[in-house]
Amino acid sequence: MSEHTWRSRKVLIVGAGAVGSTFAYALAQSGLAEEIVLLDMNRDLAQGQALDLAHGVPFFPTVHITAGTQEDYADAQVVVITAGAKQRPGETRLDLLHRNASIVEGIVDDMVARDSQATVVLVSNPVDVLTYVAHKRSGWPRGRVLGSGTVLDSARFRYLLSQHCGVDVHNVHAYILGEHGDSEFAAWSMTHLAGITMEEYCPACHSCADWAQERAEIVQQVRDSAYHIIDYKGATYYAVGLALVRIVGAILRNQQSVLTVSTVLDGEYGLKDVCLSVPSIVTQEGIARVLETDLAPDEREALAHSATVIQKAISALGR
Ligand code: NAD
Repeated sequence: MSEHTWRSRKVLIVGAGAVGSTFAYALAQSGLAEEIVLLDMNRDLAQGQALDLAHGVPFFPTVHITAGTQEDYADAQVVVITAGAKQRPGETRLDLLHRNASIVEGIVDDMVARDSQATVVLVSNPVDVLTYVAHKRSGWPRGRVLGSGTVLDSARFRYLLSQHCGVDVHNVHAYILGEHGDSEFAAWSMTHLAGITMEEYCPACHSCADWAQERAEIVQQVRDSAYHIIDYKGATYYAVGLALVRIVGAILRNQQSVLTVSTVLDGEYGLKDVCLSVPSIVTQEGIARVLETDLAPDEREALAHSATVIQKAISALGR
């Protein structure tokens, strides 16, 4: 008999706004979930989104889509939290802190009250701080509470590198680490194109005049992506929806995928009691292992700087 009380492949999405509904659409198309439940404090919105999606059921791989209630916390396998206030133009992710922390605490309290055994994926911003808040409030093992972290940023980085180098994005292995926000950084020491390091690849390529300059620009573009998209259309949701399918898929299928999700560090990289993104192995249990890699000295410094930024925000919250 299984020790879990959750229904296999039941995914509950809290927050049926732009990110939540786009994720639901992408998840339904993926065929990974058996049941998708949408929950929102705006019940009409959740109902409308669920109906609209459910009318696509004949075209999706088999899936059941409904609007739910807090009772669905009791048997969901994965709960994805996208509930919260949106980032306004020009607003930093940390500005959203106070508005979203109490929303997340309320959701965690509702889950605890229903003895939820779900793995929780935080998406709402500032995602690192809110992952920390959810972890502390729930008292659950750290692996069960993870943030989408820099999975999206790493995808943006891979896309830009593939464009720049003229190489299939699937051959580009590259990671953005640290805060999902302004202090994030590219782990160049871990970056390779089909096993070829950038140091080896660049001299053979000859396509850019000044690689040091170009690589700084690529990282800046990654960092500014969300600001630009929000300026253009008010929100970002397609790529993050797909990043969430990747993370939730790794949990549902027990994939042991290495993903830069956000987690509470416990001495790794010399950091403790702070949440940020480093490569971790994601399984059915959530984060099974945080991988410690030999970062370059400037990357270690950048990680420590991200930790300081996030720790300051946590202190400002008084948690
Ligand atoms: P949105 O305003 O479209 O949707 C948020 C939804 O949350 C709204 O429908 C609102 O009614 C609901 N909500 C608020 N409080 C709630 C509660 N207590 N219980 C249930 N529902 C509640 O916003 P969005 O564009 O979908 O963005 C959602 C969040 O995701 C934001 O914090 C945004 O910054 C974040 N985001 C994160 C990433 C990432 O990579 N981590 C990427 C994009 C957006």
